Amino acid sequence: MSGLHIRERPSPNHDSRGDVIAGTPRIDMLVLHYTGMQSGAAALDRLCDPEAKVSSHYLVEEDGTIWRLVPEERRAWHAGISYWLGETGLNLASIGIEIVNPGHEWGYRPFPEPQMAAVEALGRDIIARRRVPAHRIVGHSDIAPTRKTDPGELFDWPRLARAGIGLWPAPAATLARRRGRGVGIVERAAALSDLARIGYQVEPGNEAPALIAFQRRYRPERWDGRIDGETAGRLVEVREAVDLSLAAAEAAKRDRFRGYQRRVN
Ligand SMILES: [Zn+2]
Repeated sequence: MSGLHIRERPSPNHDSRGDVIAGTPRIDMLVLHYTGMQSGAAALDRLCDPEAKVSSHYLVEEDGTIWRLVPEERRAWHAGISYWLGETGLNLASIGIEIVNPGHEWGYRPFPEPQMAAVEALGRDIIARRRVPAHRIVGHSDIAPTRKTDPGELFDWPRLARAGIGLWPAPAATLARRRGRGVGIVERAAALSDLARIGYQVEPGNEAPALIAFQRRYRPERWDGRIDGETAGRLVEVREAVDLSLAAAEAAKRDRFRGYQRRVN
């Protein structure tokens, strides 16, 4: 690994990613969490406790120390019941990073600079090696919105996006003026369609959890689960960024396939 200093703290909580016919299993998703426990030490203990049956590939402490708990080739148990872009059981395809923070239950607080710098360095390393597309870098609450709130509205997604990790298009300058303003039935339907297109599981009649997860990440000033004018506009911005990322990932896949064909022909 490229100059990253990683300490080892092996967890027994992992299993096989299974055999994919084409060779090695596809690992092309990154899931970010907060630990939601009172200390980093307590979180490490729990993630390594065979009774707890939970784990992640990495844990990043508030001082920036990075621990490896599970080898990337193995399936860690961090996502649970999960959904993104039509896919479920996301432990199989993902790498999980636990970021130490007490979370909403124990005194949620900003993520300190050394910790964010370490998350950034680790994230860049993983997505370069694994070719993780930007639209497949998610928070736990994105993929399990009815159960989870991590890493939460204080997490600095814009900073990571500036470093090439995940999507966070800058909001149009005029967008905030639409906050709290109502939307019509057509705009509401379009907003829910955008939400699903971005990747969220949208349950008809129970759209609020996915909307709140979206807002925590992309409009953290207010996460009330309502589709106001600002949320609808923000959904369009993010959905357009996802469309570009999907197209770029497709093109890259085609290029790799052509390169492969050249080598075998
Ligand atoms: Zn989590």
